Formats: sequence, C-alpha cells, structure tokens
Amino acid sequence: MKIDYHTHHVRCGHAVGTLEQYIESAIAQGMVQIGLSDHMPLLHVDPASYYPEMAMPMDELPRYVEECLKLKEKYRDRISVRVGLEGDYIEGHEDEIAKIIEAYPWDYVIGSVHFLGTWDVTDFRQVHNWEGRNIFQVYEQYYGAVRKAAAAGLYDYIGHIDAIKRFGYRPEEDTAELEESALQAVAKHGLAIELNAAGIHTAAKEMYPSPRILKRARELGIPVTYGSDAHHPDRVGQKAEEAERILRSSGINEIATFEGRLRGRIPL
Ligand SMILES: [Zn+2]
Ligand SMILES: [Zn+2]
Repeated sequence: MKIDYHTHHVRCGHAVGTLEQYIESAIAQGMVQIGLSDHMPLLHVDPASYYPEMAMPMDELPRYVEECLKLKEKYRDRISVRVGLEGDYIEGHEDEIAKIIEAYPWDYVIGSVHFLGTWDVTDFRQVHNWEGRNIFQVYEQYYGAVRKAAAAGLYDYIGHIDAIKRFGYRPEEDTAELEESALQAVAKHGLAIELNAAGIHTAAKEMYPSPRILKRARELGIPVTYGSDAHHPDRVGQKAEEAERILRSSGINEIATFEGRLRGRIPL
C-alpha cells in the first residue's frame, strides 16, 4: 500500500507515539503519502466530566496543526505528509465543527460518526449503552447520522462507515437499506469512503466497511481510500496486503488521495 490516510498519535490521549514516528513508519514501508488525522477535540460534551482520554484538548489543536505543517516541510523530499483531522460528526453542532475546520489549512477532513448524542458508540467503556436498546433502531440512528454527515458539506470522506458493528451487536433485520441510503448520500454529495483496517481487531472481525458495502460503493462510483486507523506507529499500513486484496476483489484498482481538500487518485 502506497498510502495511509488514517492515523492518530499521543496527543489524543489513547494512542502511542509522536507524529514523527508515524511518518517514519510510513517511510520504512515505502509509502509515498502519509495522512495525519488525529481526533477533533471534544466540543459537545465537557472534557472535564466526560470519559477521559478521548481526544486532544481544544487548546492543543493549533500546536497539532503547527507540528503537522512543520513535519510536512521537513519530510517533503522523503514522503508527502498530508495534514488531516478526523472530524466527528455531531448532529446539531455543525456550525461549531465548521469553525474548527475553517480555521486551519487541512489537506483533508474525515467525517466520522462516533457519537449518537453523548454516547460514543466506538468507546469500549460505553458498551453498556447497548443494554435494553433495540439494535436495529440504533443502526437506524447511526446510519441517519452518517447520511447527515455526508450532506453536511464539511468532510472529504466518511470514516469507517459501518463502525456501528464494532462491538459485535448485529440486528436480526437486514441492514442493506440503511447502508444503501448512507452510500447514496455519500455519492450524491461527492464524498469518498475509506477501507479502514482497524475493524479486523474488533468483535466485528472484519474491516470497515463490509465487502457488501464496498462492492456497492464501487457500483455507485464512490472513490475509496485506505486507512490503518493506527494508534501505534507499528500499525501504520496494518493489514495493507489484505486491504489491497479486498479492494481488488471488489473491482477497485485505484485509491483516493487528498491534498488541499482536493481529491486525487493513484493506482492501487
Ligand atoms: Zn482514537
Ligand atoms: Zn474513528
């Protein structure tokens, strides 16, 4: 894999390693582009009373971007560093998110749904929230948020589009229509998606998205990029060979790239 557009680092509080270590890891693997995409600071819950170690504090964001830009310059002859943000989509907080995005010269912004209200559905400490809920209704709510994220005009691609499967909660009902509506919104608004390798290590036991979603994305002409979602420098490019195989078997032979918020593509 020549690129990896989804990485984190120590600032977020739950990842290991400096930005530079992630870049070095990508160079060691012969990558030509590395995307830095740490989590957006919390803005709709109070970081002081919420679960700790979710994201960098708001006052750290300028230093994050500054360090990314410095490293982009420092490594320019060895690898193309792309400066990104994994921007949460939080329903009802679009204006605040827009302000953060507009304040910095991003190469790309990932639109990820982690939050349904104040519940981060990707946080292992909050899995108890599934208790007593109708699983299909949670899926409906989740994919509804993905549709709104796609329509928000804030993002370049949707991150881990079926992350709701992370802890293995799967409804008995077929979710194909929900997936379809999310993909239709992605296509309509000209966004891309990612093949995110991190799903492999979860109870879902497969990458995000599922082969079914990926195949449908291909049919709809939705561009796809690759992201390890590494929270450790050693995980940059994780499962890249498997990801390539999955992409090729879905009929995808090029991969989306992002610079200055414009999408490009390179052959797989
Ligand atoms: Zn993270
Ligand atoms: Zn995420």
